[in-house]
Parts: sequence; structure tokens; C-alpha cells
Amino acid sequence: MDLSLPVTHVKGIGEARGEELADLKVYTVNDLLMYFPYRYEDFKVRDLTELKHDEKATIEGKVHSEPSLRYFGRKKSRLTVRVLVGKYLVTAVFFNRAFLKKQLAIGQPVTITGKWDQNRLTITAQHVVFGHPESDETIEPVYSIKGDWTVKRLRKVIRLCIQQYLDSVEDILPEELRKQYKLVKRREAIQWIHTPVTHDHLKHARRYFVYEELLMFQLKMQWWRKQEKEKSDGIERKFNQSEIESFIGSLPFPLTGAQNRVVDEILKDLRSPYRMNRLLQGDVGSGKTIVAAISMYALVTTNMQSALMVPTEILAEQHCESMTRLFNDFNIEVELLTSSIKGKRRKDILERVRSGDVDILIGTHALIQDEVQFSNLGLVITDEQHRFGVEQRKVLRLKGMTPDVLFMTATPIPRTLAISVFGDMDVSTIDEMPAGRKPIETYWAKHGMLDRVLGFIEKELNRGRQAYVICPLIEESDKLDFQNAVDVHAQLVHYFTNFNVGLMHGRLSFDEKEEIMARFSKNQVQVLVSTTVVEVGVNVPNASVMVVYDAERFGLSQLHQLRGRVGRGDAQSYCILIADPKSDVGKERMQIMTETNDGFELSQRDLELRGPGDFFGKKQSGLPDFKVADLVHDYRALEVARNDAAKMVNSEVFWKDPQYDVLRNWLLEQVEVWEELD
Ligand code: ADP
Ligand code: MG
Repeated sequence: MDLSLPVTHVKGIGEARGEELADLKVYTVNDLLMYFPYRYEDFKVRDLTELKHDEKATIEGKVHSEPSLRYFGRKKSRLTVRVLVGKYLVTAVFFNRAFLKKQLAIGQPVTITGKWDQNRLTITAQHVVFGHPESDETIEPVYSIKGDWTVKRLRKVIRLCIQQYLDSVEDILPEELRKQYKLVKRREAIQWIHTPVTHDHLKHARRYFVYEELLMFQLKMQWWRKQEKEKSDGIERKFNQSEIESFIGSLPFPLTGAQNRVVDEILKDLRSPYRMNRLLQGDVGSGKTIVAAISMYALVTTNMQSALMVPTEILAEQHCESMTRLFNDFNIEVELLTSSIKGKRRKDILERVRSGDVDILIGTHALIQDEVQFSNLGLVITDEQHRFGVEQRKVLRLKGMTPDVLFMTATPIPRTLAISVFGDMDVSTIDEMPAGRKPIETYWAKHGMLDRVLGFIEKELNRGRQAYVICPLIEESDKLDFQNAVDVHAQLVHYFTNFNVGLMHGRLSFDEKEEIMARFSKNQVQVLVSTTVVEVGVNVPNASVMVVYDAERFGLSQLHQLRGRVGRGDAQSYCILIADPKSDVGKERMQIMTETNDGFELSQRDLELRGPGDFFGKKQSGLPDFKVADLVHDYRALEVARNDAAKMVNSEVFWKDPQYDVLRNWLLEQVEVWEELD
């Protein structure tokens, strides 16, 4: 039977029910079969000795004393009764169920499900059955519902559907794979996800769907990646290795092992006939800029242009400066292009970009859009941007350019997310810091300790160091009770009479920002009060203190970014987080910050705290909604699925063998939808 039939084909589901199911976005038989429970209740009677404090459990015993009933408020009541469970006397509490009093006669066997309080031997009942539970099926699925639906009714409807249609469920995975991973048949998986009798059933059903979901997802990714490679009119960049080595030799320091490794990976991509599509991740301060410089240099030696895109003008300016310095002796034209460069100067730069005079163009996002025409753009690098989307690629393609692309990010992405969100990319990782760095010491201070914090800053200033002070807001706000940069700046000007205190925020003009940043760089300003505009990439190695007001306002990655502004020189550096978080998550964040300097560990914990959806911010994380799989916990399965998918799309068997028919057709269908979107 055809599972794509309207759900009203299920016996027992009429028009009315069908419409109600549509509210749950269930339209076909298949939709209903795939409407999975989001959790299960287990009513299996357990032994008291195996229960943990605060867990939900079911126990069985006999009523031992007269129940006592108390009313409070208008309709609220509390019913308490002693129940003998084995040799333990347990207190059972029922809220607002006074009507049970009569039934709880002494000697009456009861099975109670509720929250277990280990310390008081008390169970707060949610569910009670008089006598023994009726059936062996103690695990009950719980579905998310809407409108008039009750979980009970939905359970019944799904059972009907299973009865009628289970036999029509076909396998999707080839038998070979199923055997290899000891996965149950799809039919069984569907049955057991809805109606498990044992926990083993549940385990097998989940294992099956985790793999199926991740495999399908990765098939799309890997297919996409293959397409990109095939249509990528990539160019084998023919640069001279020894020229590059001499450039590397000219650097003021030797590369770290990790830098060497990723440089090799990138150069290999550039040399290959495929277009590079690579993510370079490395913690703040791990030295990504130099890797970018080497890559751009390689391109320039083949007479191609490179573009470096960054999120802020300050960062663009800074990169431009350091690149100009690095390429000083190499006869390479580096130019800056931002929206505040206007008039004749802008026209000149654009003209020189068009004619190919400019080898390396650095700027904000507008760099590859607008009126900018390159003579022969070979490489685009983006720094500190999460994604260089399909949109931008399209813009370039329209201009007839298909450059190699490198994304750099200092927000270390947990491996699971890296290979899912960036599943269509290659990933290089700098997992080593330049030698001689001292780990930043991080402290969590309450607001009441401000005096000590200021005293500490002063001590560092007296040693010739500089400090950042970050505030969540620019100005006082009626709505938000957080420190603002303008006020804090005024306070600190008074406090640090022997030092210059500067103010920086996003509402300053470009020139003003420039000037204050330059003065901080040259140590003409010792304390920089700022909003998070300095969050990304800014490099002032003499700064040794980072103070963050109302640190609970910021996410872990953002705090880590801010912290990364210090510890960039030889001096011991400090990060002081001022926060009185009210929520547990807030406290946990502060705790984590003081515990680890490792961006990868931090991002993993951030992911666990926030979940994958929030990790990249609400909008467009690019992550699919999995029903069963969970990117935090199922990362091993994700890796397996990824390898399998990559192997499949690149194998003849997958495209020809009948055992892959279902998978292949599914993929091709998906891909069609995609192509239309593009
Ligand atoms: P990020 O990865 O955060 O962009 P940067 O590229 O800004 O880091 O590098 C941080 C600092 O470390 C810079 O001052 C840079 O000159 C320095 N640096 C980079 N690589 C090395 C190295 N191999 N040895 C010593 N210092 C290095
Ligand atoms: Mg950087």
C-alpha cells in the first residue's frame, strides 16, 4: 500500500480527524508513521533501593494509614497517605485530587508514579493505579500535541495506522549496511519507536533512526560537495614552492607545527584542479592571519588577485596595516576598501583593482559586491565570518569568477557542528598556540568587588600595561539595567587620573574609531572603555587586562573572543568578568570561563548548554531538525554517516545497484528541490 496516501485512508481516521492531524503537519500515512514521540514514560514498577533522588519513578505498595487531606486556597488541596513498599514506609502526596481519599483505604494495593524524594522517602504522585498495572507494556510514548488532541487519542490513532500500514514500510538502507551496523529493519524501527515493550526495543529503534537521519543529511551534503567540486572550474595554481618558502622564511617568527600543517593543506588545495572550499578554524591568537597572508602570497605569485573580507572596518584597517608590513619587501600592492573610503580615492582604488594593479584587496563585506570589479580574482578569504553563503558565491559566479575560498573563524566549532553545518567543506584546524604564550588567568568578580578590580587594573597600568573595559551598552537605557560605556568612561577618567582613558563604540564615526584605536595601539591611551566592537580580531599585544562588565549578558563564545584580545604578548594577562548572574546557566557560564582557556572545549560546552539551534544564533543555522539524532551526543554516528555518505556518492554501486534505489531516488528528489532554491 502506498504510504503517501492521505492520512484519511487509515481506517478509523475520518475527515474531521484528518483535519486535526493537519494541525500537527501530518498529511499522509507516512507523516503519521513518522510522527515520533519526543519522550517516553516508563511505568515499570521499580525497587525502592534503585531509585535516585528527584527522578520520576513508579512504585507499588499497600496503603498503610488513613489519608489526611488539607485544603489551602480556594480549590487547592493536599492529600497525604502512608504506603508500605516492601519494608519501607513511604509518604505519598497528591495535590488537588481530594477525590482519591475514599479509594485509598487501608490495605488497598496501589501503583504510584511520581517524583521521588530520596531524603524524605516521599513520592509526589502524578499518576496512580489501584492494584497492579494492567499490562506488561509499561513504556508509553508521549507525543507533542496541539488543539484538541490528547496524547492518549493520538497514541490510539498511530496504533491504528501501524496495524494497517506497517507491512507496507520498505527498507531504505541496503541490507549490507544494516547488517554491518546491526540495525533493525525500518519496519521494526517504526514499530518500536511508537510501541516499545522493552527498553531494548527503544534502543534499537533509536539507533536505527539516528543513523538513517544522519545518513540522509550527509548524503545531501556530500552530494552537494561533489557537485561543487565537479562544476568547479577550479584552476591548478602553479606557484613556485621555493618562493613561498622564502616568504615564510622572512617572517619574524617560525611557524608553529599546526600553522605549517594547515598551510600545506591550503597549498595543496590551490595546486589541485578543484576549487578550494575550506574552513580554517583556530582559537583566538593561534595565528590565522599569517596563514591567510601566505595563501594570498601564493596566489599573487601566479599573477592572480586575492581578497580578504572582514566584518568590521577597524579590523580591515588593522589587517591592511599588518599585511602591508609583511609584504613590504615583496613588491606587492595591498589596498584597503571600506565604505568610508569615498570620492576620488575610491575611484582610484577601484580602477587599480580593475586593472590588476592591486594584488591584495582588504575590506568589509561590500568588497565582492557593489561596483568592485577585479581583473583576475583567484582567492577570497573571509575572516571571522561564519558563512560565505550561496548568495555571495552567486554574485561572484555572475561576474564570471570562481575563486578559491577560505573561511577563517576563531569561534571554534565543535567537531560535530563543523562536519554538519560545514559538511560541504574541508576543515583545517590550528590546534596549537605560538610558543611562549602564558595562559590568560580568568576571574569572576561580583559587582561589589569593583574597587578591587579597579585597584588591580591600576597595578597593571603602573607596570606599563594597558586594559580594555567592555560594557554591554553604549548609553544609559531605560529598559536595560546594564553598565554603559559612556558612564563607565566618565567614572574611569576620574579614577585613573594618571592615565588616559579612551571611549569607543559603534556610534562613533569611522575616523573617530580609527583615531581612538590608533591611540590605544600606540599606548597613548592606556584604558579603552568600549562596547563589543573590539570583540573581533583586534590586536594590541601590550594590553594585559580585559574587564567585562555585566558579563552574564554575553555568550561563552563572545566572552572567549573578548578574552582573546589580551594574552597576545609575552606578559601574563588577565580577564576579569564582573557578573552577578541570576540564572543557573549564567553561573555555569562564568564557571566555565574560569575553568578553561581552550576554545574548543568551551564551544563544546556552549553547545551543550545552548543546543545546536542557538549555537549560531537563531537565524539560519543551516541545521536540519532531526527527529531522533542529536548532534551533541550522536557525533560518532555523524562521523560514520558522513564517511558512508561520502563513499556512496562517489561510488558506482550507489548510482547503479538496485539495492540503493530507494536511497538514490530520495536523494535525487531532495536535490531537485534544492536546485530550484538556488
Ligand atoms: P588569530 O588567529 O586570532 O587571528 P593572529 O593571526 O592575530 O591570531 O595572531 C596573534 C598574534 O600571534 C599576532 O601578534 C601574530 O603576529 C602572532 N603569531 C602568529 N603566529 C606566530 C608564531 N608562529 N610564532 C609567534 N607568534 C606568532
Ligand atoms: Mg584574526
